Amino acid sequence: MFLKIVLTAPATEMSEYNKNPAIAFVSAFSKPFFVPREFLLENMYRPVERDQDFRAKFAPLGLRRIEASLIQSGIFREDEVAVVHPDDLEEVIREDTKVVGIGAKDPLGLGYVSLTYSVLLGLGEPMNKFEFFKLVKILKKLRKKYRFRVVLGGSGAWQIYMYGDPRSLGIDVLVDGEGEVVAPSIFYRLSVGEDVENYVKGLATPVEKIPCIKGASIYGAVELTRGCGRGCAFCSPTMQLKRDIAIEKILKDAEVNLANGQDHLLLVTEDIFLYGTKTPWEPNPSTLIKLVDSLTELKRRGLKYIQITHLNLAAALYRKDVLEYISFKLYEFSWLKLRGRYVLTTEVGIETGSPKLLEKYMRGKVLPYKPDEWPKVVLNSLINLEEYNWVPLATIIVGLPSEDIEDAYQTLKLVESIDEHGLRTFLVPLLFVPLGNCALRDQAFRTFNELSDIQIEIFAKSWKHNMKYWSVDHFKSYKYLHRVLLRILMHLYGATVAKRYRWRKKVYDEIRNEILECLSKNINVEE
Ligand code: SF4
Repeated sequence: MFLKIVLTAPATEMSEYNKNPAIAFVSAFSKPFFVPREFLLENMYRPVERDQDFRAKFAPLGLRRIEASLIQSGIFREDEVAVVHPDDLEEVIREDTKVVGIGAKDPLGLGYVSLTYSVLLGLGEPMNKFEFFKLVKILKKLRKKYRFRVVLGGSGAWQIYMYGDPRSLGIDVLVDGEGEVVAPSIFYRLSVGEDVENYVKGLATPVEKIPCIKGASIYGAVELTRGCGRGCAFCSPTMQLKRDIAIEKILKDAEVNLANGQDHLLLVTEDIFLYGTKTPWEPNPSTLIKLVDSLTELKRRGLKYIQITHLNLAAALYRKDVLEYISFKLYEFSWLKLRGRYVLTTEVGIETGSPKLLEKYMRGKVLPYKPDEWPKVVLNSLINLEEYNWVPLATIIVGLPSEDIEDAYQTLKLVESIDEHGLRTFLVPLLFVPLGNCALRDQAFRTFNELSDIQIEIFAKSWKHNMKYWSVDHFKSYKYLHRVLLRILMHLYGATVAKRYRWRKKVYDEIRNEILECLSKNINVEE
């Protein structure tokens, strides 16, 4: 195969995690030094299928967009460009290869989940970072033999230009921001031997210029919206212009997925209720319902499962009628089972229980309600969601700039209240990270050592809650030997790594107690 342009990503991004997008979060956790990479490739980030030419059958949506923009530009032919798993690079890169494009979401492990959970676990660097460096090493080795150039883009590009050294990583050009508009010219100039500046600012792609993908995406990801508009200061999509992709284009991307062996669709949006809106907090029911109806009709074409990436809690509460309709339509496409019953799932942002912090950093998140209504909005919205068979994953940010004891206490109260109401929401507390492309980028990174007891308690209570509702399903398949092994490993971890820091020990103790209780029960979950 003659490939002029090879597109790739770290192995943690070239996997469907057994078709479970929530498990992909685990790639931000520590890679324990004693666990071989082969074990992880086999059991966690199993590589996507590839054809006999090493072309990935499913690829990250961002790389699919770049692939499509290069082909659509007319500069490169379809057979000259491919998305390839990093472990196949040595098979496809030859003297004819001119440019390798890397898409990376979290190359240095500086994202919210990486910085929080690799440190909390304390077993080494995040897997995302480990795999990025593995990819860099392969490319460096190949560059000793062949004369190709390397471009890096993706939502994690800021990590390299702010905290990395592109030259030592072998990166010739960094693209910061959306890539569809600038990629054809960058790849063309590099492919003919011209120099390109080391840092290129990506441009917001006009919605009509976003190209339809040419191959299936991981999880069948199709974009509904880009950008947000609610204006949260800690978040990067808010810095992007909010755009809606036309229904026809969404359906075309979905059909490309179905025609190429995908039976899932992951609807990518910062909030499903944003679709078709003029102001982010005023949903447009008719357009949204038309979209959902059109997508669910794809059942006739082999579509089996649908998941929405995000929804906004205030919007879901405000337009309960629309939520009811969407839930009813999507339920038959749910794929996740909890305690023997299918549930719909998505990600929501709680972020804080403090109206004061909400008003300061994320005023738009609560609209059309008022900031002091936020804890009630969160609780009532989660209750509604459960009523319509949703069990969301909810993020909470601990240590936002100026968060004081009272703010943290309000967040803790909200966590306790969610638990007391028997809501099964999976709570993911995260340390505040000043993302390089958000309004708070100049603030300091938060560390566990700085946290107060109440802030640590937010982590401990959240994970105790998660274990209470989710561990039964997880451990039900464990045989006697697995259970014994798990007990031994927990004991070792508790006696060595966990006890080194008070915050780690506190969270670990809560998790261990719940797991031990779960393991000691005769688990019987109806299939
Ligand atoms: S609502 Fe969500 S996506 Fe929108 S700006 Fe806030 S955090 Fe970002």
